[in-house]
Amino acid sequence: METALTQQTNAYFDDTYLTETAATVVASGAGEEGAWAAVSPNIFHPKGGGQPSDEGSLDGAPVTPVRTESGLVVLTGVASETEVGAGVVCRIDPELRRRHAALHTAGHILGHLGESRGWQHSGHSHFPGQARLDFEPAGHEDELASPELREAVRAEFQAQMDEVLARGGAVSSSVDPQGHRTVTIEGVSTEPCGGTHVRTLADLTGVRILEVKVKRGAIKVRYEAEHATKGPA
Ligand SMILES: [Zn+2]
Repeated sequence: METALTQQTNAYFDDTYLTETAATVVASGAGEEGAWAAVSPNIFHPKGGGQPSDEGSLDGAPVTPVRTESGLVVLTGVASETEVGAGVVCRIDPELRRRHAALHTAGHILGHLGESRGWQHSGHSHFPGQARLDFEPAGHEDELASPELREAVRAEFQAQMDEVLARGGAVSSSVDPQGHRTVTIEGVSTEPCGGTHVRTLADLTGVRILEVKVKRGAIKVRYEAEHATKGPA
C-alpha cells in the first residue's frame, strides 16, 4: 500500500476537466465487498471534505472511489481482479464532476462571506440539492431572530456573492513537498483543500443563496450553483 501511495498521482488535483484517461494499476486486491484496484493517474475524487464522490468506470464497468486510511484512492466494485501493472481505461461522469466542482467552489466563497461577517464556519455539505454551509450560532441570535432578519441576511449574502462573481478571479492550487494542497480563489481566500474546483469564477452560474436558518445548533445557509459551460473538450 505504501508503495502504491507514492505511485499514485491524483490527476483531479490539477485538472477538474480530465474525465477520461488511460491509467496503470498500482495496487489491487479483493475484500469483503469484492475486487478493488488503485490506479495512477487517478481521476476519481473520493467522497470527502463535504464533496460527494465521482461516479465512473474502470474498463467500462462501474466503480466507486474510496479513500483508504493511508490516503490511497481505491476503486471498489471492480468487475474482476486486475494485476498490478495492467493498463486500464478510466472514465468519470463529466456532468457530475462539473456540478460537484461548481457547488464546492461556491461553498468556498460562501464560507469566506460568512467569516467576513465574523461568523465561524462549522461544517458544510456540497451534495447536489442539499448544499449548505454551517456556522456557529453563538452571538448571532439577535441578527437572525425573525424570518425578516434572516431574509435580510440571505439577501446580503446574495448581493455579496453576486459582487464576487462579477469581479471574477482565477482558481488555482498548489501542493507542498509534504503533499498538503492549498486552493486559492483570487480575491477571495486561500485554504487547505482536497476537492475539485472550477478554473475561474466565470465558470459559475446560477449561484443562489436559498435560505438562512438556525437549526440544530447551527446557522445553515443553503445554496445552489451550476457550472456555466461544458468546460474544455
Ligand atoms: Zn475546495
